[in-house]
Amino acid sequence: MRLEDKTAVITGAARGIGLFTARRFAAEGARVALCDVDETAGRKAVEEIQETSPDSLFFYLDVTDRKSITVAAEGIVSRLSGIDVLINNAGIKADAQLAGMEESDWDRVIDVNLKGVFNCTQVISRIMARGGGGRIVNATSVVAHYGNFGQTNYVASKTGVIGMTRVWARELGPKGITVNAVAPGFIDTEMARSVPKNILDRFKERTPLGRLGRPEEVANAYLFLASDEASFITGTVLNVDGGLVF
Ligand code: NAD
Repeated sequence: MRLEDKTAVITGAARGIGLFTARRFAAEGARVALCDVDETAGRKAVEEIQETSPDSLFFYLDVTDRKSITVAAEGIVSRLSGIDVLINNAGIKADAQLAGMEESDWDRVIDVNLKGVFNCTQVISRIMARGGGGRIVNATSVVAHYGNFGQTNYVASKTGVIGMTRVWARELGPKGITVNAVAPGFIDTEMARSVPKNILDRFKERTPLGRLGRPEEVANAYLFLASDEASFITGTVLNVDGGLVF
């Protein structure tokens, strides 16, 4: 098993890619700390995960609230013994064209997708460094490479995540911590379901593999970068996009 005896923290684990990642990590022997703002879905999710990984737990964690991150991290360390892996997966979108984008939507998306990754990494990398190392994987997106119509805030946040990934690879490498990013294309989750069908069809046409991705296909990339197999990989962005080019 590829994550035997490891503790993995996954943000945004109550549904979508995060939940599939929790399932995959549990099957590979990890104790999973499922973290989310959605307590109802998170508690339901952890019941399922505990059937495979009985020590796994749900923690309320809002990536925009540093206090909640510190409280959750302390709980994880004391109840699950240290933190080996952090998957910064939580993310939101609030699309609008530049001319009509509300300032509150800009702030909200940057706060969750960009500052949230900073908040969690700052708190948890300190714990990892004390433990002698770890693996951090950040969720970016294929749109960070190309831009995307109507996504000023989202693209800014996801491009920023790539930048932070490269900085932290340098800063945290000497502490034994690798930091990488995964850039999904269009993946069949709630997030993609809110995109109009004609736009999704256009993206499918531009994808050599001719379909949306499955959340488990992103989970597999997170798993690889979290595992010992990726021990000499840091500061990179792994695209999981079926070959999509805009
Ligand atoms: P999703 O909307 O299905 O799930 C996101 C989860 O994050 C939810 O459980 C939600 O409650 C949680 N969350 C939201 N705000 C939070 C906060 N402040 N603190 C903690 N948790 C919070 O999304 P998904 O499709 O599974 O996407 C997962 C990640 O992958 C996101 O970062 C997203 O931007 C990225 N991504 C998704 C796609 C896609 O097509 N689905 C493509 C590229 C990148």
